[in-house]
Amino acid sequence: QQTMPDFASHYAIPNEYYEKYGIRKYGFHGTSHHFVTLATAEFLGKKPEELKLITCHLGNGSSIAAVKYGKVYDTTMGLTPLAGLVMGTRCGNLDPAVVLTLVRLGMTADEIDTLLNKQSGLLGVGGINSGDMRDIVNNSAKGIKSAQLALDMWAHRAVLFIGGYAALIGGADAIVFTGGIGENSFPAREKIVSQLGSLGCILDKEANNTRRGPCYISTPESKVAAIIMPTDEELMIAKETFAVVTAK
Ligand code: AMP
Repeated sequence: QQTMPDFASHYAIPNEYYEKYGIRKYGFHGTSHHFVTLATAEFLGKKPEELKLITCHLGNGSSIAAVKYGKVYDTTMGLTPLAGLVMGTRCGNLDPAVVLTLVRLGMTADEIDTLLNKQSGLLGVGGINSGDMRDIVNNSAKGIKSAQLALDMWAHRAVLFIGGYAALIGGADAIVFTGGIGENSFPAREKIVSQLGSLGCILDKEANNTRRGPCYISTPESKVAAIIMPTDEELMIAKETFAVVTAK
């Protein structure tokens, strides 16, 4: 179900490309963002309609959504899952002219597709032949500069969107972490949350390093909570399917 306002989902290219070809932002991981929104509301003892959340699904594929009073207001993936964050093998946002430059260098659409979807992101930048966050974190800790750069770029992009989304929806009650990295990689979460102090989100390092979700990883004084919330896309799909097949 599409809840993004037009001004968030449209690209600033002539309208006919939307009307004729459906070129606009669709967003992905909707099931996961929906699941963690409901689960976080339950965790906080509130209704989703009472909350402003920024949900971060961080895995091999990653996206962040601004969820205002239970509805997605904006999200980082676009026409395809290539947009937004730096991911395991995807580049995320780029100046579109990078693609034009690659075309002018003689690459075909399929070659560029493979480069940006399968050979970029942590894999492309990290220089260790792996797009797996565990390898990036380990090599970064060993002082491998390219792995450090990949991790810094990954966190930089996430902080950029979290800050922007907080501004767009007028602050946030909680920033929620889910997905393989969001649920398990405490160094990766620390990289992000330690940069969110100006939003009033203060990392509880001990909690972040030792707890497993559902749980807080922010200090009790934190104005904006940081929470780990395991996702369960399969359960959500089952629930949604049940609702459809039992609807009159
Ligand atoms: P996903 O696509 O949600 O399965 O997430 C895959 C990503 O999660 C990979 O980058 C993994 O390195 C990361 N990940 C999975 N399990 C762990 C773990 N126990 N500790 C750190 N990172 C993990």
